[in-house]
Amino acid sequence: MASERTVIGVDIGGTKIAAALLRARPPEAASGAPVARETPVILDRFTVLTDAGSTQACLDGMVACIADLAHGSGRVEGIGVGVASMVDFAAGHIVESVNLPLVDVPLRDLLQRRFGVPVVIDNDATAAAVGEHAFGAGVGAREMLMLTLGTGVGGGIICSGRPYRGFSGAAAELGHIIIDVNGPKCPANCPNHGCLEAYVAGPAMAAAAAAAAAAQPDSGLGRALAEGHAVDSRLLTRLGLEGDAGAVAVLARLGEYLGAGLVTLVNIFNPEVIVIGGGAAAAGELLLGPARGVLQARGSRPARDQVRVVPAALGPDAGFIGAAALVLSELLPDDVCASS
Ligand SMILES: [Zn+2]
Repeated sequence: MASERTVIGVDIGGTKIAAALLRARPPEAASGAPVARETPVILDRFTVLTDAGSTQACLDGMVACIADLAHGSGRVEGIGVGVASMVDFAAGHIVESVNLPLVDVPLRDLLQRRFGVPVVIDNDATAAAVGEHAFGAGVGAREMLMLTLGTGVGGGIICSGRPYRGFSGAAAELGHIIIDVNGPKCPANCPNHGCLEAYVAGPAMAAAAAAAAAAQPDSGLGRALAEGHAVDSRLLTRLGLEGDAGAVAVLARLGEYLGAGLVTLVNIFNPEVIVIGGGAAAAGELLLGPARGVLQARGSRPARDQVRVVPAALGPDAGFIGAAALVLSELLPDDVCASS
């Protein structure tokens, strides 16, 4: 069994940078045999607001965060960075970003020079998928997909035990599969209409909740609206989990859209497991149950009967744990590829 490593995982989002110093073993190759799930030990953690005002300010915040964690830790062996942008993994820089002023900045080389250890940079949703595959709900699977429902819908593909990034790092945009060609304009930086993201990301859930609140003033959502509460995905989830019938019905409808997306993904990828994570997925079975129902009714056999659709296991720490898992698997790449 591989020995424990000390690494830093960094999750760079549009609003905050969350980083942690972790000790963990590199994940074992998925060989079909049962693999024990080992949770990384978080030795220290740090969160700062992202300063997106300029490239330099953004970099300074990130470097200060990492330096703080590295200071006094003795031996950091690698740094993994997951970033909410399109990343050229091989080149180690960001190709396109909506919220971060880091496009074309040689981020990997810059951090490598500054800290003197191997650095890996990847898209945050791919990092989250690598984290769930290494330490969470996808442990032991060779074929895994992950959807992260947040402000947008992030996607990650694990193919033959390895992250799949496509020709130029632009693959796994699973949030932009089409649910309805005549549907609403995609809210992301995407020219498409009716994408999965337009139905099950946090803002879409908030819009569905607000519409239900306006249509049914006597419902829990309607009363919350009348009382001046923010009718968002968080309120929708809370009311749903409390058993409010109106909120449960809205979540079920959204879950059916999610299920329609899963049908497409299962028919293409034939995965063993699909992990659903992100803050907007906090309603759990209220979304996943109806999603599985649509998958069962409309997916093709045998793939629809073989796949498990499960909630993510790593919670709000998934970003930096995934980034750490990335650098761990890149530190010992032969271990991970051995069964391919
Ligand atoms: Zn889209």
